Amino acid sequence: MRFELLAGLLALTCVGACANATPREQEIAECRPGEIATWADGRDRPALGKPLVFVYWDSGAPTWFSSAQVMELLKRSSQAWAGCGIESRVSALLGNAPLPAGAVVVQWSEAGSRGNFGLANLGQRTLALSPAMFQLLRTRNPSYPAEQTLQMVVSHEMGHFFGLMAHSRRCIDVTSYYTDGKGGNCYARDRSQLKTVVEYRSILPTACDIQRCRIANGLPVNAP
Ligand SMILES: [Zn+2]
Repeated sequence: MRFELLAGLLALTCVGACANATPREQEIAECRPGEIATWADGRDRPALGKPLVFVYWDSGAPTWFSSAQVMELLKRSSQAWAGCGIESRVSALLGNAPLPAGAVVVQWSEAGSRGNFGLANLGQRTLALSPAMFQLLRTRNPSYPAEQTLQMVVSHEMGHFFGLMAHSRRCIDVTSYYTDGKGGNCYARDRSQLKTVVEYRSILPTACDIQRCRIANGLPVNAP
C-alpha cells in the first residue's frame, strides 16, 4: 500500500517512466518549482500566430537531409511544443503554390542564419537554417548524428515563434544558451552530468520550456 502510494507520487512527479530515467531524462521530464531561469536577453511574448503555420522550403538543403526527413523533424518539434497550448502546423512548400497567410517559411539560407545553425526572424517570418554550419559539423564530427542537431535547432528556433524570446539558463532546456559569453554558465541539477554526453541540451522542448511557453501565452501553467 505504502509502496503503491510512493509509486503514484513518483509517477505524478516524473510524468511516466521515471524509474529507469537518467538524471538528464528526469531534468527533461520535470520542471521543479523555482527552476525556470533565463539570461534575461529578451522578453517573452505571446506566440506570433494562433495557429502557428510553418512551411518548409527545401531549396538549398544539404544533400544528406532529405525533404521527408526534415519534414518529420519539423513535425516532431511542432508536436512537442503542443503542450504549450498553441496549435502549430507544418507543411511543405510545393512548386509555385501560394504561401498560407501568416506562414513562417523554414528555409536553408546563409544570409538568413547569419553564422548560426539556425535563426528565427519574427519580423520576416523566417526560420533560417545554415547549410554551411551543418557542413562544418559533418566535416569536424562525421560520426555525430546531425539529425539530432537539426532537431535541436528546429525545436529551439520554433520556441522563439511560440513566444520564448529570452534564452534559458537551464542547460537542459532546448531554449538554453550554455553561457552568456561573459563567464556565466548555465544551471544543471548535477553539472557533472554535462560531461556524460556530447550534447546535454534536449533536442525537444522540456517540461520547463513548455511551462515558460504557457506563461508567455497567458495560459495556466498546469495543462488540463
Ligand atoms: Zn535562440
